[in-house]
Amino acid sequence: MRLRVLGCAGGSAPGAQLSCYLLDDVLAVDAGALTTALDFGAQRRVQDILLTHAHLDHVWTLPLFLANRFGGPPVPCRIHGASYALETVRQHLFNDRIWPDFTEAVRESVPLVQFSPIDPGDVRKVLDYEVTSIALVHAVPSQAYLLRKGRSSLLVCGDTYSTDRLWEIADATPDLRGILIECSFPSRYDGLARASLHLTPRLLSHELEKLHADVPVLVTHIKPEDRAEVVAELEALRERRLRILRDGDVLDV
Ligand SMILES: [Zn+2]
Ligand SMILES: [Zn+2]
Repeated sequence: MRLRVLGCAGGSAPGAQLSCYLLDDVLAVDAGALTTALDFGAQRRVQDILLTHAHLDHVWTLPLFLANRFGGPPVPCRIHGASYALETVRQHLFNDRIWPDFTEAVRESVPLVQFSPIDPGDVRKVLDYEVTSIALVHAVPSQAYLLRKGRSSLLVCGDTYSTDRLWEIADATPDLRGILIECSFPSRYDGLARASLHLTPRLLSHELEKLHADVPVLVTHIKPEDRAEVVAELEALRERRLRILRDGDVLDV
């Protein structure tokens, strides 16, 4: 699998792209940067999108991405996510008020959008990937996706606070090649992280005590304003499995 980090910022600022990951040019996880990081040709190669949850920073470009599907040849797009997230997107983004309801759009007999629920515990085949959904702990239902293709697996997490199930599954996945997980705030904001159900370096280090596998932990979703502080704290942990992602990174796993 080739993973392109289209965006991994936990907030909006010049030069920072919001959460969005692309696998092998065809499968996206979250939609924070589909139209801001991909040209039109690359956008049309995206066939499926997995939403971790429906917070705005993770679905930000979805309405504009689907609007762009009205140009060029008709290409369907399947949107997968928890039932709650899909319902939220349908009701609050594609409601004919904030944006046209593209969910029923058809071009040349091709439905442009299909919604496909995948709830925690579900396993689905999506393109060439086996996708397993894992519940996380966040202010709204959020999930991680265990993506397996061939003999490699990758765990891509949505926003989360402390959780156990994720680490149990990580340790039970021998072909796991990496875990993308958030670390939103510096540790002096532990209280805010607890209230908003995010992680800080201190909280993440407690989480990593539950992970026994020697697998890269790829940190995402750092608030741009506090990035230098969060990075310094993460480096001070001297946890050799940690790596901090940047927008534009490409990883072969
Ligand atoms: Zn969130
Ligand atoms: Zn977020």
